[in-house]
Amino acid sequence: MSQNKKKRRTGLFGGTFAPPHLGHLHAAETFLSEMALDELIIMPTFIPPHKEHSAGDTPELRFRMCRSMFGALPRTVVSDYEIRREGVSYTVNTLEHLMEEDPEREIFLLCGTDMLLTLDTWRRAADIFSLCEIVCMPRYDGSLKEVIRKADGYSERFGKKVTILSEDPFVLSSTEVREKIRQRSDLSEFLSQDVIEIIKNEGLYL
Ligand code: ATP
Repeated sequence: MSQNKKKRRTGLFGGTFAPPHLGHLHAAETFLSEMALDELIIMPTFIPPHKEHSAGDTPELRFRMCRSMFGALPRTVVSDYEIRREGVSYTVNTLEHLMEEDPEREIFLLCGTDMLLTLDTWRRAADIFSLCEIVCMPRYDGSLKEVIRKADGYSERFGKKVTILSEDPFVLSSTEVREKIRQRSDLSEFLSQDVIEIIKNEGLYL
């Protein structure tokens, strides 16, 4: 019997996804293929009601939009774990939960540039680095100098490799998308048709 049972390469991609946009989809597709993932878990966070930033945007609607946006990707599930858990969604707790669920997993955590730069301030950062390998999807055109410096610093401090994906960025944020919705602009360059339908039907982000 083999002693080296191959671990399941599991990607975790969390976010507010308010709403999920084509930049998120591009990042998820790149993550799946460049990291040769066996499974990808999309994890919309719970946002407590007092932090609600846009009329009508509930965790359930963000979850539905994520299922529409990411549902067609291979080997991908959208999880409602953090939404069901409620409260503040700490990544370290989600990682511990995923490892308890299946100790044979090897977890890769996807962060955009902005998240990578602040990762060392997250709750129990050292535990995050020991529970998973960090993967960064660049969000902006231009120099990666700052990202590379930060990634090297993490590797030195936490003894873990940090991977920076090589695909070109898709420069877009949910903030920009919400602005376009308020301006009643054409959204087809930013969102999938299904997500546009949900936003229109529910009157979100106006
Ligand atoms: P907001 O503008 O509301 O802050 P956002 O576009 O940054 O939203 P989030 O849901 O906060 O989206 O992000 C979830 C994760 O996706 C984060 O790790 C973030 O860095 C990453 N991300 C967001 N947009 C992109 C993008 N265009 N390319 C790569 N990663 C992205």
